[in-house]
Amino acid sequence: MSTEIIDMHVHFGAPADQTSGCYWSAEFEKTAAYYAMLLLTRSLLKKIDLNRVKSHLLDTIRAAKYINKAVLLALDEVYDMQGQVHREWTHLHVPNEYLYQLSREESKILFGCSVHPYRQDWDVQLERAIAQGTVLCKWIPSSQLINPAHPRCKPFYRKLVEYNLPLLCHAGPEYAIPTSNKSYEEFNHPGYLREALQEGVTVIIAHCALPYFWIFDSNYRQDFQEFLDLLEEAEKKNWNLYADVSALATLLRAPYIKKILKKVPVNRLLFGSDYPIPLSEFTYNRSRNFFSWLRFLIKVWSLKNPLDKNYLLIKKMGFAEQIFFNASRLFSKIKR
Ligand SMILES: [Zn+2]
Repeated sequence: MSTEIIDMHVHFGAPADQTSGCYWSAEFEKTAAYYAMLLLTRSLLKKIDLNRVKSHLLDTIRAAKYINKAVLLALDEVYDMQGQVHREWTHLHVPNEYLYQLSREESKILFGCSVHPYRQDWDVQLERAIAQGTVLCKWIPSSQLINPAHPRCKPFYRKLVEYNLPLLCHAGPEYAIPTSNKSYEEFNHPGYLREALQEGVTVIIAHCALPYFWIFDSNYRQDFQEFLDLLEEAEKKNWNLYADVSALATLLRAPYIKKILKKVPVNRLLFGSDYPIPLSEFTYNRSRNFFSWLRFLIKVWSLKNPLDKNYLLIKKMGFAEQIFFNASRLFSKIKR
C-alpha cells in the first residue's frame, strides 16, 4: 500500500438530498466555494444536484493518471456541548455513510470520516467508520464549532490513538465553509492541537496552517509560525505531527513555499489538493529560464485533470518524492 500516491484531501458537497443525507445552507450558497462547485460541475445554468457532483468527482478521480487514490472527506453536523445536533448551525453536511458507499463503488476512492467529538454517540460513530475502512477523521473547528483543546475531546483522542487513526484538522482561515459562531474562528489556530499531540494522536495540520490571502489575512498571520514552533516541539517530544500541502498551489500562498521546503521535514508532509478549491498554474516555478517555465506552463495547461495539475505543480515546487507516498504509509498503520 505504501507505494501508492494518494491525494489525501478532496472535498465532497451537495445540496439537500434524501438518498445521501447531504445538505448545505443558504449561506454556503454565497461562498466562492459554492460557485467553484457550480462551475466545475457545469451547473451554472442547470440545477446542481447530488448526481452531478457525484459523477463529476468520480470521473475526475478515475481519470487522474498520476494519482492512485483520493480521500473524499465527510463533514459531520454541528453539535453543542450537551451533545445536541444543530442543523440550523450547520453549513455543509456530508454523511459518513454516503462516502463509505462511494468508496465501495469506486476502488480509487478512500473514505475519510468526520465525527463530531461532542456528539453523545461519538465512539459508536468512530468505531463504525473505522470498521468501514476510514483512513482519517476530519474536523474544521470554526465550521463545526469544535474547540480541539476542550477536555471533552480527551476520550476521543484516546480512541484515535487506540486505532492509530489520524486526525486531519483544518488550520488557518476558513473561507469555504462558513461558521455560525465567529468566536470559534479562534480554534483554527494550530496551537489548540497541543492536547491531541500530547495524548499521542497522529495529527495532520491542513494547509500547513497557512493564511489564504497572505498578509491580508490579518487574524491568521501568526498561525504558520505557530505551526513551525509545533514542529520543533514535535521533534523533541516525539509527537506524531504531520501537515498537508493541500491548496498550496494558490497564488497568495506562493510566498510561503520556500519556507515550507526549508523548514518542514519531508517525512512530516502529505500530498493533497483540496479539490474542488481552484488552483493556479502561476504559483511557483523554480526554473529561472523563461522558456523552460513556458514549457512547464503549457504542459500544465494541456492537462485537463485538476488533480493531475495539482500533482505536477506540487512536484515542480521541489518537494521530495516521499511526500506523495507518506499518506499511504500512515494509513497502513491504522489498526482495524
Ligand atoms: Zn479542505
